[in-house]
Amino acid sequence: MSTMYESPLKVLVAEDDSVARRLLESILEKWGFEVVGTNNGLQAWEAMQQPEPPEIAILDWVMPEMEGPEVCKKIRDLGMTTYVILLTARDSKQDVVSGLESGADDYMPKPFNPQELRARVRVGTRIVKLQRALSERIGQLEVFNQRLEVLSLEDKLTCIPNRRALDEAMEREWRRCLRSNVPLAVIMIDIDSFKNFNDNYGHQAGDECLRQIAKALRSCTHRASDFLGRYGGEEFMVLLPGVDRDGASIVANHLRSVVQALGIKHDSCRSNIGICTISLGVSLEVPSANSSIEEMIARADAALYKAKELNGNQTILIDASAEDEQ
Ligand code: GH3
Ligand code: MG
Ligand code: MG
Ligand code: MG
Repeated sequence: MSTMYESPLKVLVAEDDSVARRLLESILEKWGFEVVGTNNGLQAWEAMQQPEPPEIAILDWVMPEMEGPEVCKKIRDLGMTTYVILLTARDSKQDVVSGLESGADDYMPKPFNPQELRARVRVGTRIVKLQRALSERIGQLEVFNQRLEVLSLEDKLTCIPNRRALDEAMEREWRRCLRSNVPLAVIMIDIDSFKNFNDNYGHQAGDECLRQIAKALRSCTHRASDFLGRYGGEEFMVLLPGVDRDGASIVANHLRSVVQALGIKHDSCRSNIGICTISLGVSLEVPSANSSIEEMIARADAALYKAKELNGNQTILIDASAEDEQ
């Protein structure tokens, strides 16, 4: 029988009658099980709380310290799926229903018949194996779901958060700043003359350029609350909660300079320095009930448009509270 099982299944035997217990133990061992023997309910309960507890428990009904059904109930209260077989004395009129209601899966009269024991333990083994397979499958699905969650929020090309993640972060940070009455800066970033870049150097070079720029931008967002995402094609967005006007300008200019420092050759860039550059529109405000995310993004867009009009490679900031720009 032992060859039927890949690894020996652990079975708990809790029986205060030492003759009956030894008999049960030796039969189960002969069938290839690893047996944990106890002679009272308390010990049985302790055995169930050890690491890698038995997956099948054969519990005598009447035992010192704690009776079988009570042990069973504790096992279930802990959320364990142990297959529990209750032993009932042959002449006992114990209520089988109440035993099953304590959470037992099966019961068996005593003294037991080895054939019957074997059949019932086989049922238990089958259930335990199904349970194991199910747990394993659930574990795999959980890992898979986490992976999907990450993938659904990550931009495939640049490996930074995608538009969906960005929208979620924008909602979250907007509400957080509104609640705590602190400023939020939104930086809209657009690569200068990127259409020309693709036309001149090809789309694969364009993709590589996007990857490098995303990586450079990421190196500038240090604080845990700073958020960078790919907004669209060649556009990125950075959220800076809790930043003031100077702080926002410093970050924006840092972003601009690290991209320029990459030195990606671009002969037909509107900034006319032979290098791929970015333009940035910054919108700064303390979110309030009178404003909205849409208005804030529209202001960042308007600022970006102005930066483009000035040949790109620069930052324009609109501070909503001061109603001016720099
Ligand atoms: P401007 O300075 O005014 O921003 O000009 P631009 O050429 O950058 O702007 P435009 O909107 O005309 O062109 C954007 C280009 O970005 C066009 C599009 O092919 C390219 N683009 C968008 N997404 C990707 C991408 O994933 N890979 C590549 N290689 N190119 C992309
Ligand atoms: Mg007993
Ligand atoms: Mg664009
Ligand atoms: Mg562009």
